[in-house]
Amino acid sequence: MLNTPFPWQTAIQYVKGVGPNRAFLLGKLDIQTLADLLYFIPFRYEDRSHLKRIAEVRPGEIETVVGEVMAVSLTETSRKRMKIVDLAISDSTGLLHAKWFNQPFLKTLFKKGETVMLSGRVKKNLYGAYSLDMENPQYEKVDQNEVQLHVGRIVPVYHETKGITAKQIRTLIKQALDRYGANIPEIMPTTMLQKYRLCSLSEAIHEIHFPPEGSDLERLNGGTSSAHRRLAFDELFLLEIGLALRQQGMTKKEQGIRFDVSESHLAPLRKLIPFHLTGAQERVLGEIKKDLASAHPMHRLIQGDVGSGKTLIALMSLLIAIANGYQGAIMAPTEILADQHYLSLKPYLEQLGKSTALLTSDMKKRDKDAVLEQISSGQSDLVIGTHALIEKGVQFKKLGLVVVDEQHKFGVLQRAKLVTKGKQADLLIMTATPIPRTLAMTLYGDLNISVVDELPPGRSPIETKLYYVKQRDRVYRRVEKELAKGRQAFVVCPLVEESEKLDLKAAIEVFEHFKSEVFPNRKIGLLHGRLKRDEKEMIMRQFKAAEIDLLVATTVVEVGIDIPNATVMVIEHAERYGLSQLHQLRGRVGRGREQSSCLMIAEYAVSKEGKRRLQAMVQSADGFKIAEEDLAIRGPGEFFGTKQSGLPLLKIANLVRDALMLETARAEAFSCVEQHPELGDNESRPIREELERKWQGKLEWLTIA
Ligand code: ADP
Ligand code: MG
Repeated sequence: MLNTPFPWQTAIQYVKGVGPNRAFLLGKLDIQTLADLLYFIPFRYEDRSHLKRIAEVRPGEIETVVGEVMAVSLTETSRKRMKIVDLAISDSTGLLHAKWFNQPFLKTLFKKGETVMLSGRVKKNLYGAYSLDMENPQYEKVDQNEVQLHVGRIVPVYHETKGITAKQIRTLIKQALDRYGANIPEIMPTTMLQKYRLCSLSEAIHEIHFPPEGSDLERLNGGTSSAHRRLAFDELFLLEIGLALRQQGMTKKEQGIRFDVSESHLAPLRKLIPFHLTGAQERVLGEIKKDLASAHPMHRLIQGDVGSGKTLIALMSLLIAIANGYQGAIMAPTEILADQHYLSLKPYLEQLGKSTALLTSDMKKRDKDAVLEQISSGQSDLVIGTHALIEKGVQFKKLGLVVVDEQHKFGVLQRAKLVTKGKQADLLIMTATPIPRTLAMTLYGDLNISVVDELPPGRSPIETKLYYVKQRDRVYRRVEKELAKGRQAFVVCPLVEESEKLDLKAAIEVFEHFKSEVFPNRKIGLLHGRLKRDEKEMIMRQFKAAEIDLLVATTVVEVGIDIPNATVMVIEHAERYGLSQLHQLRGRVGRGREQSSCLMIAEYAVSKEGKRRLQAMVQSADGFKIAEEDLAIRGPGEFFGTKQSGLPLLKIANLVRDALMLETARAEAFSCVEQHPELGDNESRPIREELERKWQGKLEWLTIA
């Protein structure tokens, strides 16, 4: 019995057929080791199993043939100036021409006498009754002795880089499998493989590159073959093992603050609030209290649709920390939102005899210094701010609880920084961008999640309607009708190529147009990111006090803004926004008792995806459904910018397609870590080794909190 471990980490240079030059090229494809090579997954498959002899090919069909190069020429058509490369190949049964248009470099690629595989749709040549053509076929040069590898089967197609072709990679992988393939060790317990009907790792690695005869091409290309399923499971399982280990490390090792969570701390606040907490708010608060009381720091994410009342939950949690003699902090993504929190929370704290401070980066230095002093001396009980809170000069006397609001606007690191301002401070993250379960599990797999799945009573659902630009007058008439009832409206102006300057221009134009022509009798306000802080503050205050009827704004109003008397949200050029953003904007209305509406104005010419987004908005008001749809439309990579979110790159698994598998993998992984916290037993040791190997040096993204 051989006891040497499988040489996964062998440098690619020493794998047969590679050498230093190719190793360099492979490095560009992120292939550094034997493991990287074996896990270099084809991005598609081509069915070349039905190899035809040239005499047998039929016009109109997609066929694959192999033949010898007879001639290759480059011609230019006189009329359209089209460059055509014509490659003639023959096998013992006949002659066939491949034609490529405007790819003149192909001429130099083929040499007389070489063997070439062509795959494409066959056409009868109009000019010669007996000649057959393939236009722009797939091509690959093949060595005679390697023919079975590249044709006559379903072949894998790999991403290439300059200097190395898909075919060369195929050959390298074949050689590596011939040399090492028989010894690929299993990492998963047999019971698990049986339970989920997964094939062995060795089988999976062999078959993902060289699918056995009779494999289903569609499943291969869809990533659902048995080989894909097995490798996707591994990927998700290992990811969740990593998260489970991290969560275990956090809760077991870190010593946190044991807060006294008695109801007596909250009773005075409850008396001040003009309503009762919803059932969902109470439940989530209960979950938070448990965390606060425990000896380990809390790491909890609160998901709740826009308007579900997360701020109040935060306030109650903060009050517990403050009553225990600690300071609390709220970090908001925009100045407007920080201001709003400050204005709405300060009165409560005042009445409870506690002090509140506001810290933003656009404050005057003198004011800022004064606030910094209040924070470090412990004079401020609650500090509300933007990312200015995580700057170097900010020092808390005794920070006990950190709340991060609208967390999707922050990066992973920013979140981490604020927590380090306290000694083992507890962390509460709030997000109104509802994250689909599958993504939440991956992004926040080490956080505990609470969901506020209920809106305060008396809200009627927001009516969402889609209009086209020519129907704009109808939209304005509807707005006027609401304004006449004493309600208020938002009009959000187009997003122009991510440019703040242009956003601004569009908003100003609309503002002027409204003032002079459309709503001459109404008070119109204009809000955008370039305004000075006191200007912004004043406009928000006027809008809140109903001194402004209609607020023209850029997307600065996207998050958090709470104006219960606003009942209409008009979104100009709605087709330009992402689905989550549209939902956020819509969430600015429907916050009071009145029936609200969201009126989206779009261009006629909208992409297919754009249409799908707008339809989803009209059809659903449920943030979670919207988020699922968004994920499905955009794919996990773009759902949040990967860099920002710390989303690990999944190479095989797909969070949309493999959502169920992720749940299974997560359950198994967490139970595995619970049973064997060190992963040291015989069954889970290979898993730990695999984890160390795979995520080596890439574990930082796990550091979420
Ligand atoms: P979000 O979850 O989007 O941050 P907010 O915390 O801004 O929501 O709350 C939205 C609105 O609902 C606010 O005006 C708030 O005062 C109100 N609200 C919160 N909780 C309740 C409740 N239990 N009953 C009635 N209104 C509530
Ligand atoms: Mg909020």
